[in-house]
Amino acid sequence: MIINPCTSCGACCALFRASFYWSETSEFTPGGVPSHLTVKINDFMVAMKGTDKTPPRCDCLVGEIGQSVYCKIYENRSSVCREFKPAWEDNLPSPRCDYARSVWGLEPLTPDSWRSPEGYPKAA
Ligand code: SF4
Ligand code: SF4
Repeated sequence: MIINPCTSCGACCALFRASFYWSETSEFTPGGVPSHLTVKINDFMVAMKGTDKTPPRCDCLVGEIGQSVYCKIYENRSSVCREFKPAWEDNLPSPRCDYARSVWGLEPLTPDSWRSPEGYPKAA
């Protein structure tokens, strides 16, 4: 079976603070990020719980970094999470993805990370 390389990574969810405008939370936007999984940063911003800690790790990340992971609120994740692009998914590099993986001792993704052994694009 062909899988998205993020499902065997998770490094960015355990490195950066995932902060975004409070208006994205379920308290204000139906279907938004569940409010109880966020923490207030200031009058305008909240962050995913766990990513505000040292070391950071989002409370919604399930699994082992570099092995097998998933986001338990994937369909309701914030804009900052949706906009974080894994390297080469859209044929573009992603230095922040490369950096997150390097911190966790993982090699950077390559264009081939998005191809099946048969050469077809991988399914998301
Ligand atoms: S909400 Fe999901 S995608 Fe966003 S940091 Fe947490 S685990 Fe990662
Ligand atoms: S660091 Fe890159 S490959 Fe790893 S989960 Fe984040 S976007 Fe995906």
